[in-house]
Amino acid sequence: MKTKLCLLYGGKSAEHNVSLQTAKAVIGALDLNKYEIHPVFISTEGQWIKGPQLNAPVEDVKALQFNDGEEISPNALGTAMVPADSRESEGYDMIFPLLHGPNGEDGTVQGMLELLNLPYVGNGVLASSAGMDKVIMKNLFAQAGIPQVDYTWYIRSTWKANPENAYKQVEEQIGYPCFVKPANLGSSVGISKCTSKEELEAAFEEAFQFDRKIIIEEGVKAREIELGVLGNDQPECSVAGEIVPKKDFYDYKAKYEDGDTALIIPAEIDQETYGKLKEIAIQSFKALDCSGLVRADFFLTEDGQIYMNEVNTMPGFTPFSMFPLLWKHTGVDYPTLIGKLVELGMERHQEKQ
Ligand code: ATP
Ligand code: MG
Ligand code: MG
Ligand code: MG
Repeated sequence: MKTKLCLLYGGKSAEHNVSLQTAKAVIGALDLNKYEIHPVFISTEGQWIKGPQLNAPVEDVKALQFNDGEEISPNALGTAMVPADSRESEGYDMIFPLLHGPNGEDGTVQGMLELLNLPYVGNGVLASSAGMDKVIMKNLFAQAGIPQVDYTWYIRSTWKANPENAYKQVEEQIGYPCFVKPANLGSSVGISKCTSKEELEAAFEEAFQFDRKIIIEEGVKAREIELGVLGNDQPECSVAGEIVPKKDFYDYKAKYEDGDTALIIPAEIDQETYGKLKEIAIQSFKALDCSGLVRADFFLTEDGQIYMNEVNTMPGFTPFSMFPLLWKHTGVDYPTLIGKLVELGMERHQEKQ
């Protein structure tokens, strides 16, 4: 029996195009003797392309109070929500959300899949949403005693009410250089490095284009080291990899357009440092109650200080992305990695029951 695998890709976020690349690669790597592939494309407008648009306008709350209505199960609710053409989804063995950023990597799709009671690959609702919001993630890491750079955050309305106050607070607490980021995004979209008040102002404007919440971090001069983590209750780490961007930092262009960023695998680090990185990667995985996979991104300074930057609950996943490459060097090739993720998703689904 083939595994009926439904791939969800595209999505509403600024990482739509990255997701398309991933989907293309995953489809290309799947063994057609083992898997039946069911693609579901989500447009930038959020339409599940095979189905009708989801809108149910209501004039009055009374129209929402179906006290005498027929009781339905969450499964029926899910079936009704899924676009008409993909209603055979009830028969899927596994859903693979190949989605990055908000409305995909952030727990929303995962929540819908929970309602549908469908097994899915990767992190659950809580880990996905906590991992998407850099402020919440860092707060949880801080509580777990994980080393991080200093940070602060703003919501748009607080900033708008008194921008000068916000800049002053950032200058006093964080100073320069600092990094300004949308709280909920990835692929470096909306991120700026600032070395002056003028740049800080522009960076706030830029980051608030993408989110109502932003994070401002102390900028460190450090090597960028990443580890892959794979598993559920007993997660394991890959070898370490190093990213060497040709420019100031690893921005969107460096990630997807320039193609001149060096990925060095395994990273040239000593065993003691690797041991510490592994320990922190696992600690971080557990702090967010992750399952399936994460890519843990670190900073390593010249004097050996390690800072956890972030985990990505659905890291870039083309065969040329860091996460699959790390596992390849650890002895798990791309098709095998996909197979393992499907198994881990199944295992978590069964343990939940
Ligand atoms: P992705 O999810 O694609 O890894 P992201 O959008 O979540 O990216 P970060 O990983 O937080 O963004 O940051 C992107 C890049 O910006 C980092 O890889 C690094 O080059 C640089 N950077 C971010 N924060 C800092 C910092 N505090 N100090 C120095 N460099 C930083
Ligand atoms: Mg990220
Ligand atoms: Mg990301
Ligand atoms: Mg990162």
